[in-house]
Amino acid sequence: MEPPTQGDQLLNYVAHGIPFAEANATVYMNFMKSHCCYDAIPTSCKLVVFDTTLQVKKAFYALVANGLRAAPLWDSKLQRFVGMLTITDFINILHCYYKSPMVQMYELESHKIETWRGDSFQNVYLQCFNHFLISISPEASLFDAIYFLLKYKIHRLPVIDPESGNVLHILTHKRILKFLHIFGKKVPKPAFIRRQIQELGIGTFKNIATVRQTATLYEALSIFVERRVSALPVVDEGGKVVALYSRFDVINLAAQKTYNNLDMTMQEAVRRRRCFSEGVMKCYPDETLETIIDRIVKAEVGAVHRLVLVDRADVVKGIISLSDLLQAMVLTPAGIDALLS
Ligand code: ADP
Ligand code: ADP
Ligand code: AMP
Repeated sequence: MEPPTQGDQLLNYVAHGIPFAEANATVYMNFMKSHCCYDAIPTSCKLVVFDTTLQVKKAFYALVANGLRAAPLWDSKLQRFVGMLTITDFINILHCYYKSPMVQMYELESHKIETWRGDSFQNVYLQCFNHFLISISPEASLFDAIYFLLKYKIHRLPVIDPESGNVLHILTHKRILKFLHIFGKKVPKPAFIRRQIQELGIGTFKNIATVRQTATLYEALSIFVERRVSALPVVDEGGKVVALYSRFDVINLAAQKTYNNLDMTMQEAVRRRRCFSEGVMKCYPDETLETIIDRIVKAEVGAVHRLVLVDRADVVKGIISLSDLLQAMVLTPAGIDALLS
C-alpha cells in the first residue's frame, strides 16, 4: 500500500494556517522522504516478542519488567506476526472486566493472549485489536512510516526485515521527531516554524477530553476507551490543569499489582505513578512552533508525546501532540490532510 504523493501543484496549498508557497515549506517532508526507516533505528535496543500462548497477565508483567511499552504478537501455529500488544489493550481489558476491588478479574488472571483474541471474546477482541500487524520495511521512507502511524492511528510501527521476517525495531512518533531534531540540523528552517501556534492552528482545540482529579481511575479508563485519546489532562473544578495522566501511566497498575482497585481517585492514581514527573508540560497559544518542538524533544523525562495548551490561568484550551506536529510539518505539505480527524 503506497501513501499518495503530490507534486508542485500544491505549492500554494494552505492548511493548518501554513501558506505552502512560503520559503522552505516542504523541507521536513523532503527530509522524511529522503531518509529510510533503517536510518532511524538505534544500533542496539531491547525488543521482546510475545507468543500468543502466553498468559495475558504475564505478558503485561513482562512489558513492565523489560521497561517496554509494546510487543509484537507471534502465532507459532500460523508462523507469522498477528498483531501488537500495547498498553491500550491492557486498558481495554481492565475496563471490560473490572467490577469492584473485591472481585478478581478472572479473564485477566487466567487467559492466554490467543484465547483472549479468540472466539469467546470476539466483541472485546474486535474493539481491542487490529486483525493484522501493521508493519513497514527498513527500506521504506520515514515519510511512509509517518503516513502509516497517522492513518492507522497507532503509536507503534514495527520495522520488519522482508528477508528474515525479523522485527528490527518499533518506530514511534518520538523516535522520528528526535531523528529529525538530531540529523535535520542542516535543513534550512522553514518560515512557518517561527509563527505562533495559534496562528498555525496546529493541535486539537475543541472537545478536549479531560478528567477531574476527584473522578475515579475507572472513569478515566472509560474516557480512554470511548474517546481513544492518548492522555488526559487532570483538572480541578475550575478547569485548571493540575496533572497529566497518559495511557502509559496505566501500566503502573501492573507494575504495582494495583489493577484490582480502579475505584481510587485520579489524585491518588497520579500520586502513585512510579515515574512521577513534577508538573505538567504545557504551552501557550502565543508561543512559536519552534519553541514547542524544542520543549517537546528536550523534555527532561525523555521527550513527551504531547503538550497541554493552556491560557495564562492554566485552564486547558487544547492538546498539541506529536501526531499533530508530524501531520502539519510533513503530511500537510504533501497535500495529505486531516488524517487525525
Ligand atoms: P499505545 O498508545 O497504548 O501504545 P496504540 O495506539 O499503538 O497503543 O495501539 C492502539 C491499538 O492498535 C491497540 O489495540 C494495539 O494493539 C493496536 N496496534 C498498535 N500498533 C499496531 C500495529 N503496528 N499493528 C497492528 N495493531 C497495532
Ligand atoms: P509514550 O512514550 O508511551 O508515548 P507518554 O509520552 O504518553 O508515553 O508518557 C510518558 C510519561 O510522561 C508518562 O508518565 C506521562 O504521564 C508523562 N507525560 C507525558 N506527557 C506529559 C505532559 N505534557 N506533562 C507532564 N508529563 C507528561
Ligand atoms: P495522539 O493519540 O496523542 O497521537 O493524538 C491523536 C490526536 O488526538 C491529535 O490530533 C491530538 O491533538 C488529539 N488528542 C490527544 N489527546 C487528546 C485529548 N485529551 N482530547 C482531545 N484530543 C486529544
